[in-house]
Amino acid sequence: MAAYRRRVVTMGSRYRPEHQRMLNDKRWTQTKAVVWQRAKGLCEECAKTITATGRPLLVAGVDCHHVIPFESAKTQQEAEALCYNPDNVRLLCVRCHIKAHTQAKSHTKEAHQAREAERLARWASRHKKK
Ligand SMILES: [Zn+2]
Ligand SMILES: [Zn+2]
Repeated sequence: MAAYRRRVVTMGSRYRPEHQRMLNDKRWTQTKAVVWQRAKGLCEECAKTITATGRPLLVAGVDCHHVIPFESAKTQQEAEALCYNPDNVRLLCVRCHIKAHTQAKSHTKEAHQAREAERLARWASRHKKK
């Protein structure tokens, strides 16, 4: 377990302080332990791939990835529900983790901020006196 924790890298660690605090919480440690046990320490994405031998691809999992990023939650309660729910977390190898983030471009903080800005602009334009 200790060896595992040392190897865990957090992708895009430009977390806001309140999110960083959530990852320092013991509830996150517990969530990771549940995920780790469920995955038996193996990448859950690679395990879906069946090799030529008819067996799943066994690759050591190193990263815990949130399927729905908890940073996108609107309330702290919602963020915690996403962050500490093992069903929202996948144990992945580095390759699959990078792939997951590349595919989930629409979930990046930048995309989220862009959508927020757009919404604000729409709101402002509606309230602007002509
Ligand atoms: Zn993998
Ligand atoms: Zn991730």
